[in-house]
Amino acid sequence: MGKKVQLKRLQTQRSAQLKRMIKTTDSRLKPTDRTPSKKKPKPSDEPNLMEKTQTSSAMFFQYNTQLGPPYHILVDTNFINFSVKNKLDVVKTMMDCLYAKCIPYVTDCVVGELEKLGPKYKLALRIIKDSRFERIKCLHRGIYADDCLVQRVTQHKCYIVATNDKDLKRRIRKIPGVPIMNVALNRYVIERMPDAFEPMAKK
Ligand SMILES: [Zn+2]
Repeated sequence: MGKKVQLKRLQTQRSAQLKRMIKTTDSRLKPTDRTPSKKKPKPSDEPNLMEKTQTSSAMFFQYNTQLGPPYHILVDTNFINFSVKNKLDVVKTMMDCLYAKCIPYVTDCVVGELEKLGPKYKLALRIIKDSRFERIKCLHRGIYADDCLVQRVTQHKCYIVATNDKDLKRRIRKIPGVPIMNVALNRYVIERMPDAFEPMAKK
């Protein structure tokens, strides 16, 4: 075997070793030696089948940036009834809880539920018809308010839900970014609000 052939073989071995070490697309190579990367940009109109449920643009990690003040508070039937039982002024007690302006909202179905409960709940009904309460129209059938409230807060991340109903609270907790307000003995307590509010609520 001639010396030239041996040298040639050695050289090809060397370059093979080198090739094994870095890819030809490696950015450390000179642009002229580099093979252009074959990755094509994905066409934007191609549906991404792996996409998960879309998170609301209002969410900054676990913090809901759309939350007040003024706070928009969706009130359910038993929250009103508990408040009446404990002789709490709804709007004033809400403000004492959050230290900011609060606007209570009642939906048609909540009003419907209260009307259905009969004369015992006349006072509750009178309270929610106060001008400080905002009325929300319902387009759904029936008056099952829990489903209505869950659906609303899933779609619009601007509400706090005020309820003392265990089942409803459990459902709301599964939805990110929705704080829950409930009636304690002589005040309202807020749950799942940004940290700054928690020490106040725990007083
Ligand atoms: Zn409704």
